[in-house]
Amino acid sequence: TIKAGTVIDHITNGKSLEAINVLKLLDQKNKAIVTAGFNLKSNKYGLKDVVKIEDKELSKEELNKIALLAPKATINIIRNHKVHNKYKVELPKIIEGFVKCSNPKCITNNEQIKTKFFLVKKEPLQIRCDYCERTMQSSDIVSL
Ligand code: ZN
Repeated sequence: TIKAGTVIDHITNGKSLEAINVLKLLDQKNKAIVTAGFNLKSNKYGLKDVVKIEDKELSKEELNKIALLAPKATINIIRNHKVHNKYKVELPKIIEGFVKCSNPKCITNNEQIKTKFFLVKKEPLQIRCDYCERTMQSSDIVSL
């Protein structure tokens, strides 16, 4: 395991690369040491992905991004080689600024307006745009 940082466990299998992208972990300026595991066996949900990020603890906004992508993810905060804190991600009721509306005519796609969605349903995931009222599901979600 890692000395310090965050382990995102129970990521829906196949979603770890998206998680890495959404968190911009490969940005030059981040220089985070990232280790990803794919299609690992999970006792609870079949196959899972795991992402380990050294020397970084995720912010609330970053956790929200992970929750949308992988609602079953578990976050382990590691300090001094030990699990300091462990919790499940929670879907935010309001999602602001990081998801793109799938309606090309939506004002947020045509003007400089921050996107805003409301959580409609958790399982299966549904969110609704505050501006055009388009309902989107998991497969429609694209991060900005
Ligand atoms: Zn919209």
